Amino acid sequence: NADVAMYRVKEHGRNNYRFYTPEMTHMAIDRLDMEGNLRRALERDELLVYYQPLVDFTTGRIVGAEALVRWQHPRIGMIQPSEFIPLAEDTGLIIPLGQLVLRQTCADIKAWQALGLPPVKISLNLSARQFRQDDLSATIREVLDEMAVDGHLLAFELTESMVMHDVENTLDTLRELKTLGATISLDDFGTGYSSLSYLKRFPIDTLKIDRSFVRDIHHDNDDSAIAHAVIAMAHKLGIKVIAEGVECAAQLDLLREFGCDELQGYFFSRPVPVEEFTLMLKQGRSLADLADT
Ligand code: C2E
Ligand code: MG
Ligand code: MG
Ligand code: MG
Repeated sequence: NADVAMYRVKEHGRNNYRFYTPEMTHMAIDRLDMEGNLRRALERDELLVYYQPLVDFTTGRIVGAEALVRWQHPRIGMIQPSEFIPLAEDTGLIIPLGQLVLRQTCADIKAWQALGLPPVKISLNLSARQFRQDDLSATIREVLDEMAVDGHLLAFELTESMVMHDVENTLDTLRELKTLGATISLDDFGTGYSSLSYLKRFPIDTLKIDRSFVRDIHHDNDDSAIAHAVIAMAHKLGIKVIAEGVECAAQLDLLREFGCDELQGYFFSRPVPVEEFTLMLKQGRSLADLADT
């Protein structure tokens, strides 16, 4: 579809003609169009929260999930976050989008509680612009209070690039988030700069090893050495480790051997709609079920 294609061209830069269409000269207009579309999407319930399970290595059980937004466009169909999160970030629409994801997540948590399901911890992604919001923790607290959800059930995911500037402000914001009862995860770990000093300086609870290190872990000695060392170091600092992008049993076996705490990845489940995630919780789906099939 044209308006999405236009935006892709812009995102991928001048030299990428993969999504070229003859109407490319209208790119600026279409970007505006896309912005208008996203604005309307926020009002029309076109944004959905999918959940991808986080699984405990020791018990094999689901202990949490990452909330990942999807855009169900009435004409184009499902649009992935990489196609609209950058635009949302540029335009400031990420603020109402983040509010929407938080509200939806809280509503889903309430629904799971009403069903008597065991509590799971939900991870929410924060982008740079959200993180720099002055009243970030206050607005989150408002939603938690209004919806009567315990902040201990939430984790906030940040990337290294977001915490590296302005150490004092970062520290303040992280402390405020923690007073909500939430935990802090460092997302995409290993892809940024000066990773180690931040683990020491900031109150990080969890580290998510980026999937680029997990991908070849069973073939590449360097990647496996890095993953092993990162897990050992994090544990010495009292930090929990989640492996992202686990896609096969060989990766899983190695990560378990290295003492990794939780896994996330297509091997267990892709991100799924709330109904499907609720079903997994009801069934108590676990790693053992995968071995059976
Ligand atoms: P992320 O936070 O690093 O999320 C993990 C991404 O890895 C997700 O992509 C997930 O679907 C994908 N993934 C998980 N397991 C596997 C696997 O085994 N193999 C492969 N190839 N991929 C896997 P997704 O859902 O497309 O999200 C992309 C990014 O968009 C996220 O990266 C996050 O940075 C951002 N994002 C998503 N939802 C939100 C949101 O609600 N708010 C904000 N601010 N950002 C969001
Ligand atoms: Mg994330
Ligand atoms: Mg990640
Ligand atoms: Mg990642």
